Amino acid sequence: MMDKFERWELERMYRDGYGPTAIADELGVSINTIKSYIRRHPSMKNATHCLYCGKTFSQTKGCKVKKFCCDRCRSAYWNYKYRKGGNPDGKGRPQA
Ligand SMILES: [Zn+2]
Repeated sequence: MMDKFERWELERMYRDGYGPTAIADELGVSINTIKSYIRRHPSMKNATHCLYCGKTFSQTKGCKVKKFCCDRCRSAYWNYKYRKGGNPDGKGRPQA
């Protein structure tokens, strides 16, 4: 069983074009685990994690790359990050 971080890494590497063997090596996870995960998540290749809730969603082809699964997450994320004193850089303005 993989933890959240390993699944995230797996999906990132897979999107970057790594094969199951390379991913299994990198994560120190059994190749069967990787393969079955990929099989269970066929849409993974063009999927993205919502920056706020971590939910996976698909990009719409030809559209601007989305970072959030929905508008609610997007505004919640910015609120969370840049609410008074919330900006880690103290510059008062979101960075791209
Ligand atoms: Zn979300």
